[in-house]
Amino acid sequence: MGIKIDFNRCVGCGACEGACPFGAMNMEGGKAVADIDKCTLCGACVSACPVDAIEIERAAVKKDLSGYRGVWVFAEKRGRDFAGVTFELIGAAKELAGELGSKVSVIALGHDMEECTEELFAYGADEAYVVDRPEFADFSDEMYCDAAVQIIEKEKPEILLMGATAYGRSLAPRIASRLCTGLTADCTQLEIDNESGLLVQTRPAFGGNIMASIVCPNHRPQMATVRPKVLKIPTPDFAMKGKLIEPDVHIKGEPKVKIIEAIKKAQGANIADAGIIVAAGRGIGKADNIRHVKELADAVGGVVAASRPLVDSGWIDYSAQVGQTGKTVAPKVYFAIGISGAIQHTAGMSSADIIVAVNSDKEAPIFEIADYAIVGDAVEVTKELVKAFKGKVR
Ligand code: FAD
Repeated sequence: MGIKIDFNRCVGCGACEGACPFGAMNMEGGKAVADIDKCTLCGACVSACPVDAIEIERAAVKKDLSGYRGVWVFAEKRGRDFAGVTFELIGAAKELAGELGSKVSVIALGHDMEECTEELFAYGADEAYVVDRPEFADFSDEMYCDAAVQIIEKEKPEILLMGATAYGRSLAPRIASRLCTGLTADCTQLEIDNESGLLVQTRPAFGGNIMASIVCPNHRPQMATVRPKVLKIPTPDFAMKGKLIEPDVHIKGEPKVKIIEAIKKAQGANIADAGIIVAAGRGIGKADNIRHVKELADAVGGVVAASRPLVDSGWIDYSAQVGQTGKTVAPKVYFAIGISGAIQHTAGMSSADIIVAVNSDKEAPIFEIADYAIVGDAVEVTKELVKAFKGKVR
């Protein structure tokens, strides 16, 4: 690995010297010279060079990948139960394993899990590596990472899927870094490339304006996180049985972080679990108008959500934000009231079964994905919808 400067191309303009944040580029005799002791190979000089005279050579690390098999899921525990995303991931793993002709395995770390491990098999796991110990009762980055890495290093899975939850987002990068492998966060689609057999991990990039398909050809396992509700939960079959494995893991020393007390934040209804959502956008006009949205939510037995500008304005709590930087939801019915339909918003709700959009602009992008399009004023239409539904939805 190193930095290479083509002196025939270099015109001595000094752009690289100005761009280098580490003071590693200097001009000597009218040509760029790199100080390798200071250079971090960040690539700023490569981007800045107007004549493509600088190149960073990175040696491709070739590992023997032949022994890696199987699609694995990290099972996330919430109290005594597994989080729903665990089952969503097992469903996806089953499909991927079907294409690869391999098995679905799950890592479950926690305590008092005798009753719930059967669920892993019901949703499609062939085998479960279960570490059931009192010290694993609460989530711990350090201990969970230690245990997972030991199991993965021994069993060599080809693919490892985790939930893009607060826990998963903290744990997945630790595991990936310890295993020296790649990780694609917040995937919205996972598939196997027919030719290479690699996991194609698709996720929004550049503020959601493009979908990037990412592969991890040289390292294993291929790791991806997926947000809850992006994938469908498969139908469980409690007659299905799997193999329960209790691996021997050794945790060295005391964890640096100890949980003294867990206090549950008081919050309203969780939009991620709601069957009907009434979401307000900037078209609602002013904070006071949210009461009409609440009335509609009450009338249809739903919960209130919002687009990001309403959260940024402090009109609605962040826990109700739908979209790329909020929650992903998949309700039966989604009312989008005065929401334009920006990709960062639709990324979090487009898999709703029925979308009812209200917008004064008949060209609004939300209408492209709406099942019912109502062109009109957000407040006036919402009031009419309240009248239409009040007392009629049980
Ligand atoms: P606007 O885009 O302003 O649209 C308002 C709509 O209301 C328009 O279509 C307009 O025609 C309509 N309207 C106006 N007046 C009326 C009326 N009287 N009656 C009816 N309709 C009316 N956004 C999210 O929502 N969630 C996210 O998680 C998110 N993450 C983001 C992440 C990044 C990195 C970036 C760059 C942006 C993100 N955004 C997110 C912002 C997103 O790009 C949009 O700006 C946002 O979704 C727009 O919200 P809106 O539709 O409520 O407002």
